Amino acid sequence: MLQPGQAPVQSASERREALKSVWAAARVCVRCPELASARAHVVFGAGNADADLMFVGEAPGANEDAQGLPFVGHAGKLLDRLLDEIGLARGDVFIANTLKCRPPGNRDPQPIEIENCREYLYRQVELIEPSVICTLGNFATKLLRDDPTGISRVHGRPEVLTLGSRAVRLYPLYHPAAALRAGAVLEALRADFARIPDLVAMPAPPQPPR
Ligand code: SF4
Repeated sequence: MLQPGQAPVQSASERREALKSVWAAARVCVRCPELASARAHVVFGAGNADADLMFVGEAPGANEDAQGLPFVGHAGKLLDRLLDEIGLARGDVFIANTLKCRPPGNRDPQPIEIENCREYLYRQVELIEPSVICTLGNFATKLLRDDPTGISRVHGRPEVLTLGSRAVRLYPLYHPAAALRAGAVLEALRADFARIPDLVAMPAPPQPPR
């Protein structure tokens, strides 16, 4: 019997249907008027709706906005290669961004926009139920860790924290775009990637009481 305040456990198909409802709401979202009027697509995220491993970047760029998919430019191709090197493909993971709409001119997301969009990301995490979330780059790492420490100091260091109502193992990584610009960053990113299978194989962190 459910305890007071305890949410019912949902099956994978129930969670997938609920995720589709969140997607339906996001695709017509106008909470950020400037972004909503400038975007070609809401880039909700893509991949396996029941993935143990999730990646979270900053916001869609021009290619992503045009195609409606996350990480489809050069950085996305590198991400595909790194996944392949650890025996994974996009269909095994879920890839999303902290912000679902492209900031015009690729400007930094504004705090109100991040706040507006946070609920979508948290609902994704709650419904996909990943055990490991890799943040890609400084922006997503600082936001999800709620800490200003830069990616060069925290990359490759997993920690357990709670996003929305879900406890996950957060694993900060350099952004693939940064790795395309500097060989040393690519080496570090590749070394951090190599540890992902072991992290995913660990038991999921205990969940907070609901
Ligand atoms: S960025 Fe997020 S909250 Fe803002 S309009 Fe797009 S979907 Fe809505």
